Amino acid sequence: MKINIILDDITKLKTDAIVNAANRQLAGGGGVDGAIHKAGGSAILEECRQIGYCETGKAVVTTAGNLLSRYLIHTVGPIWHEHPALMADLLLSLSYRNSLLLADHLDCKSLAFPNISTGVYGFPKDRAAELVKEVVQHFEPEKLEILTFCCFDQENYDIYNELFKTF
Ligand code: ADP
Repeated sequence: MKINIILDDITKLKTDAIVNAANRQLAGGGGVDGAIHKAGGSAILEECRQIGYCETGKAVVTTAGNLLSRYLIHTVGPIWHEHPALMADLLLSLSYRNSLLLADHLDCKSLAFPNISTGVYGFPKDRAAELVKEVVQHFEPEKLEILTFCCFDQENYDIYNELFKTF
C-alpha cells in the first residue's frame, strides 16, 4: 500500500472511505467525530442510531452522507486512562486493523484515518503512531491501495513523517 501523510481536515477528503474516531454510543461528539457529523449531515447520525453501539476496538460502516467519500467507517479507540497500557495498545491496534479489514471487504481502494484516540481520549501520540505502523506492516490488503493518515496537529504530522520514512 502507498502511504500518504497529510496535515488537513479529514472531512474535505475524497477517499473511498473515511474513518471516524467515534464513541461507543455512536452518538457524535466533539473533535473529529463532531466535524464529520457536522459536514456529513444528519443522515449519518440516523444510520448510527440504527446500529446503536460499537465496542471499543471494533468498527462499523455507514454511508458518508454529504461527504465526498462512499463510506464512513466508525471505530472506537480506547480511552488511554481507562485501561492498563498494554490493553490500550491492543484496543487501538484492533481499531485500526478492523477498520482496514472493513474497508478492504467493502472493495475500497483508498482509505483515510484520523489519529484515533490521540485527542480527547488521551493516547500518547508517538506510542499510537508506532502501533499504527505495526498494524499496517502486518496487513495484507486485497483491494486497498492507498492509505492516508490525515493529521490535524503538527505534532502528529511530524511523528508520522519521521516514523514512515522507513516504511
Ligand atoms: P479521540 O476521542 O479518539 O481522541 P478526537 O477527535 O478528540 O478523538 O481526536 C482524534 C484526532 O483527530 C486528534 O489528533 C485531533 O487533532 C484530530 N482531529 C480533530 N478534528 C479533525 C478533523 N476535522 N480532521 C482530522 N483530524 C481531526
